[in-house]
Amino acid sequence: MNSPASTWHMARRAARMNPSVIREILKVTEKPGIISFAGGLPSPKTFPVAEFEAACAKVLKDDPQGALQYAASEGFGPLREQVAAMLPWNVDPSQVLITTGSQQGLDLVAKVLVDADSKILVESPTYLGAVMAFIPMEPNVVSVASDEHGVIMDDLAQKADGARFLYVLPNFQNPTGNTMSEARRAALSALATERGLPLIEDNPYGDLWFDTPPPAPLTARNPEGCIYLGSFSKVLAPGLRLGFVVAPKTVYPKLLQAKQAADLHSPGFNQRMIAEVMKDGFLDRHVPTIRALYKSQRDAMLDALAQHFPDASRQPDQSLTWNTPAGGMFLWARLPKGMNAVDLLPYAVDKGVAFVPGAPFYADHGDERTLRLSFVTPSVEEIHRGVAALAATIKERQGV
Ligand code: PMP
Repeated sequence: MNSPASTWHMARRAARMNPSVIREILKVTEKPGIISFAGGLPSPKTFPVAEFEAACAKVLKDDPQGALQYAASEGFGPLREQVAAMLPWNVDPSQVLITTGSQQGLDLVAKVLVDADSKILVESPTYLGAVMAFIPMEPNVVSVASDEHGVIMDDLAQKADGARFLYVLPNFQNPTGNTMSEARRAALSALATERGLPLIEDNPYGDLWFDTPPPAPLTARNPEGCIYLGSFSKVLAPGLRLGFVVAPKTVYPKLLQAKQAADLHSPGFNQRMIAEVMKDGFLDRHVPTIRALYKSQRDAMLDALAQHFPDASRQPDQSLTWNTPAGGMFLWARLPKGMNAVDLLPYAVDKGVAFVPGAPFYADHGDERTLRLSFVTPSVEEIHRGVAALAATIKERQGV
């Protein structure tokens, strides 16, 4: 006798989950030989493999039982202390929650702070992975107008009432590479304090500056009004999946409970490895090598762009235009008037180069002319060939 077919009834929140638009778009780029400016991956050249090898052996030798046992949900004590000590404001280790990547921090923030229909504010554009973490809670996501210096205060002032928080990426933003100016940070911090608007500050790229460090984090200005998210993905290795949250005492216990429900704790073995690698100031020696590499990669892309798009400043509507990120991994560009980055992508892929269209990064209607170019993984030679291919594609499509 046949048993009855199971009826799977999806939760309402599941209907709000969608495959990442970008991942779908990138499927067309997965062809051999494509020069990809599309990925969001750090350069594998920066992973300190030998140091991890030594740390792995040491962790297993020193306390194998401890490293392989279940552990505290808050995180490995010495790592929490190291995190507190490396941040540029007064942080007590008890405020540090070690998370499974900062992506988990975003998920916990959503679970703890967002109800169905809660208004939450994001920059325009913003990190798509954050919106994906927030969406299952069924919020009302409202975009705040932003320019190359960060969110625009007048627009924020109009939208701040009743918002649960503003999610903001002040340093070398994903996707634009832009950095919030000191003046804008001061104004944002003042407005947030005056209006009682909590800030979620996401800062995975802040250490990757090229010439001068960015202005102080928003959290340093008002720690009680901010939740700060950090990550080891861009300064050590993303594969270990470790990041951290620094939260005020009023929200920390709830984030901890959400963390317990999510995964009990982040991998203790990985936490001990990172603590071992970081001791004796390793990051102070290692991070400058990442900065130097990424800066030379950015410079190669700027050179190639200037060479292939000589009319950018004279005729910005007829040319590709772009910004000059002061750190991080991404550059933001804009196609000539009338062009659409989603439509252009397959033609670019045919010519051997891929990028990410910018429109999906907007929580509301996006600027279809924008695109994100990552400069950190291709070689300098590939950067030049890739930009040449992009220029040829644009020229060809302009003629159509
Ligand atoms: N925030 C931003 C802005 C990011 O770009 C990323 C990674 N792409 C993350 C958070 C998540 O990083 P992780 O989970 O690896 O720490």
